[in-house]
Amino acid sequence: MKHRANGIDIFRIFAAIMVVAIHTFPFQSIAPFLDEVITLTVFRVAVPFFFMITGYFLLGRLSLNFSYNNSQRVKKYLYKIGMIYLYSILLYFPLSLLNGTISLKMNILLKVLIFDGSFYHLWYFPAIIIGTILVSLLLRSVGFKLTVAFSICLYLVGLGGDSWYGIVSQIPLLNKLYSFIFSWTDYTRSGLFFAPIFLCLGILVYRKNKKLTALKGLNLLFYVFIIGMIIESIFLHRFTNIKHDSMYLLLPLGIFILFLMLLKWQPKLKVKESADLTLLVYIIHPLVIVIVHSISNYIPILKNSLLNFLLVVVCSFILAQFLLNLKRKRRVSKQKILFERASKEISASAIHHNINEVRKIIPENTNIMGVVKANAYGCGMVEVAHELEKNGISFFCVATIEEAIALRKSGNQGEILILGYTHPDRIHDIKKYDLTQSIVSEEHGKMLNLKKIPIRCHLQVDTGMHRLGVTPNVTIIQQMYRLSNLKIEGIYSHLGSSDSLELESIVRTNAQIFLFNNILSDLKQMGISYGYTHIQSSYGILNYPELNFDFVRVGILCYGFLSDYNIPTKITIDLQPIVKVKASLITKRVVDAGEYVGYGLGAKVEKRTRIGVVSIGYADGIPRTLSNAKLTLEFKGQPIKQIGNICMDMMIVDLTEVEDISVNDELIVLPNISKIADEEQTITNELLSRLGSRLGVGLS
Ligand SMILES: *Cc1c(COP(=O)(O)O)cnc(C)c1O
Repeated sequence: MKHRANGIDIFRIFAAIMVVAIHTFPFQSIAPFLDEVITLTVFRVAVPFFFMITGYFLLGRLSLNFSYNNSQRVKKYLYKIGMIYLYSILLYFPLSLLNGTISLKMNILLKVLIFDGSFYHLWYFPAIIIGTILVSLLLRSVGFKLTVAFSICLYLVGLGGDSWYGIVSQIPLLNKLYSFIFSWTDYTRSGLFFAPIFLCLGILVYRKNKKLTALKGLNLLFYVFIIGMIIESIFLHRFTNIKHDSMYLLLPLGIFILFLMLLKWQPKLKVKESADLTLLVYIIHPLVIVIVHSISNYIPILKNSLLNFLLVVVCSFILAQFLLNLKRKRRVSKQKILFERASKEISASAIHHNINEVRKIIPENTNIMGVVKANAYGCGMVEVAHELEKNGISFFCVATIEEAIALRKSGNQGEILILGYTHPDRIHDIKKYDLTQSIVSEEHGKMLNLKKIPIRCHLQVDTGMHRLGVTPNVTIIQQMYRLSNLKIEGIYSHLGSSDSLELESIVRTNAQIFLFNNILSDLKQMGISYGYTHIQSSYGILNYPELNFDFVRVGILCYGFLSDYNIPTKITIDLQPIVKVKASLITKRVVDAGEYVGYGLGAKVEKRTRIGVVSIGYADGIPRTLSNAKLTLEFKGQPIKQIGNICMDMMIVDLTEVEDISVNDELIVLPNISKIADEEQTITNELLSRLGSRLGVGLS
């Protein structure tokens, strides 16, 4: 789910300005009353607004699905905020020592670091960390509704220790409770009492976005709550003895309505990186306050609170933007790889093209599974799968559990089906990484079931290829569906001869398809819901386009190749190879007539020859059998012959014909992959999948 949230982004800026106001009291010199009504009341929506953003963008998804990806996102977020808190503590360390927030006594130190923050505004970071951890744990253990209930209770406790303290502390029992709480922390506006409710409100909006934003009369409601909150605040400030004024009874309702209004608002204006910008403003503005304060000792007009506030706002934003630019520059320079020994360059547009071509020939209701096993046929699994995701593919096939885990860890959001055998002892990983396992035999299914850990599976049926799959017998298949720990979400088979249009192959394939269909209709009759169905790989699509199952498993066609160009297919499609193998020229030299080049005596030069060394070899997947001039490389369209034996990491080329090549220039090493596969008497699949992991992957 993607949310356009320009309204939220714009309001972040206002919220940051409000936070600055809370710390500078802009109306002090003009009308102090306004500070009470506006700064310390209305502007109190700012920080809860940031909590709600975290609830909405981070925890909403987690609350619906505790998948590996969603948990990982939360962990990464916590780590990031933790690091920011650490750096902020260091930044403010001198100031916090000076003003006495931090002293080096252990108990005070802990209290400060966990609840109150090491400098007055920094409480936000431990609060968001503790709030996020607490809400995640509650969501997992008691579900969303109870989490909300707990959070409301915690907020009420917090409220009693904040602006309602004067009233609540009259009651002796509660007074004792708060004395206890305040022996641990100076305020109740912390991750424990303050943050959870706003995180929950963010989650609520995420879960019920459409319904809530469709509500009418939000504006009116908002004004009612804000005015109510102002009255609440004036009452408490005037007539009671408040402890602090971060929390009001009506604050959660007001901010909730405001958030909905912001989501509904779809302004054209976009603020770039407003999240990072406002975070930086939040961190640095107290520093700016201190500096502006010292300057105002020399320029008395700055003592005016409004001017002072404005100056702090402007300087904080300028400084934050400056730091942001600095960070961006560093990121760009990090991306640039200066020299690559050898690489495979993947073309995003070719992937897009091939997927579209496949989509044209499969039925409308059939979806594509991207087969990215063996490092995406050597092309780079993570990069290719990422491009496939961009092209709307959300189901992936790999061969092994290690591939599946690597794909999941790369942030892939799709379903990942392991086509091959996985040892039952690895069942914890299948579960942990939200993978789907193929059941490759009856025995395999039973062993997995015995582990008593629920996992998702697809049942593979051996319809005649006789490699993997359970026996094609409905009684046996029914038993498999009854295994109580296996959630079988699909059933599939694989064709052994779909690549050939010769009669015997067609007979074999049709028999497999016939058997598969029979099994499906029998299962249907028995009332078994067997889930997704799939049987075709690339050649199954090209030669049996009339089939109509839920998925097709596309490998080689994604990569822009046929396996073998000598074999005709029923349908032909236009393919663009997605990969170019490149390597650099690393040195040039001249050898005299009669000299040998490289290992062995195979290459003796007849005349004085200019040669070069290219940094790629058989360990990178270039077949050694191409040695001695069977391979022609390419530089700017000019052919360059390889000479001598191909080495493990390098090869020697003849540069006689090319004048303008220099060291560090890049050559295309396998200009025509399908032709080479043919000469090597293999299929393109093999040549591609052997491209080594030492090759860098670049995207073009
Ligand atoms: C490898 C594989 C595929 C993909 O095959 P291509 O011919 O490359 O499309 C599909 N299904 C299974 C079971 C596979 O092992």
